Amino acid sequence: MVNPRKGAPLGLFVGLSLAAAGVDATVLWAAFSSTRQASAGLPSTALPWLAAAALSLSVGAVVLPTVVMLRANRSLTELARRWAGGSLVGRARTSGLAGLGGLADALNQMAASLQRREETSRLREAELVGQTERLATTARLAAGVAHELNNPLGGILLYGDLLVESTPPDDPRHENMTKIVKQATRARDIVRGLLDFARVSPAEIDTLDLNQLVRDTLKLLEKQLQAIQVRTEQSTVDLLVRADAGRLQQVFVNIILNALDAMKDGGVLTIRTGYSEKPGFCRVAISDNGCGIREEHLPHLFEPFFTTKEVGRGVGLGLAISYGIVRQHGGDIEVQSQVGAGTTFRVMIPAAEEA
Ligand code: ADP
Repeated sequence: MVNPRKGAPLGLFVGLSLAAAGVDATVLWAAFSSTRQASAGLPSTALPWLAAAALSLSVGAVVLPTVVMLRANRSLTELARRWAGGSLVGRARTSGLAGLGGLADALNQMAASLQRREETSRLREAELVGQTERLATTARLAAGVAHELNNPLGGILLYGDLLVESTPPDDPRHENMTKIVKQATRARDIVRGLLDFARVSPAEIDTLDLNQLVRDTLKLLEKQLQAIQVRTEQSTVDLLVRADAGRLQQVFVNIILNALDAMKDGGVLTIRTGYSEKPGFCRVAISDNGCGIREEHLPHLFEPFFTTKEVGRGVGLGLAISYGIVRQHGGDIEVQSQVGAGTTFRVMIPAAEEA
């Protein structure tokens, strides 16, 4: 005879075991009722066997996935530790991980992307080291040559000036002498540029406001800037930096004079100052709407002697010197340019602590 009460404990037992194994509520109810129904009609002697079978099944259902999960967890943790230690080789197995396959897959993707980034930054670092070494060698060479040329050039200029002064302007030799002095002056300017580039003297650091420095620079270049329009968008707060005013001004002068050269038929020079998106840095952005820079020239802009200007106009030291000065201040220069549309140089200098 069917006795539902007799099957209830076994049904409850099976239900509880499955619940421990994390089985869903509807399945639990179905398992409970069917076990209760089925066992109600069985002889009482079969019940302990059935209970034992249900117990082993549910223990298996709980223990097996837990063991697999623990092993997967251990192997993923070991791998993550190895990656954290700096070795990004080795990837996680993605199958047989008791539901952790998706996580292993995501971790593998993360490691691959970190490895790609690491490779790129290693190459960039090697490139920077090479560039710095090249710059240092050129600077030493430049300094040596400049020192050797400085004195004879000084002599040529001194005696050339004396000759020009002592020759009446209507003397046919006057024009030639003036030409000699002009060319010697140019040679001296180049030598000064080389000496500036190689300069190792310590900077004279003071706290100064970049807005004020930009205003002073524009005043200094007032005459040259008459040929173009100048717009300034200055930050309303002081942009305090610790810098050598003279050297930083030299950077702005170099960039502005290049912008002027790029706008031979007139144009607009825009200077914006403010805090950089890079935290802790002030920024001066100098834009022109001139000829722009060809993409293949961009990587060479800061190399000494890189110039696209005709012989006699450019030496290619302005930006190399500017870059050196800005790096010496712990800052950086970024360039964005489009041929035919214009160029923007962004000079970033660390903000002074009191700012
Ligand atoms: P130089 O002015 O003597 O050529 P620089 O180092 O100052 O030397 O500049 C290097 C080169 O960078 C220039 O010859 C020019 O090709 C390019 N350049 C710099 N600034 C600009 C600019 N604003 N627009 C276009 N080209 C520029």
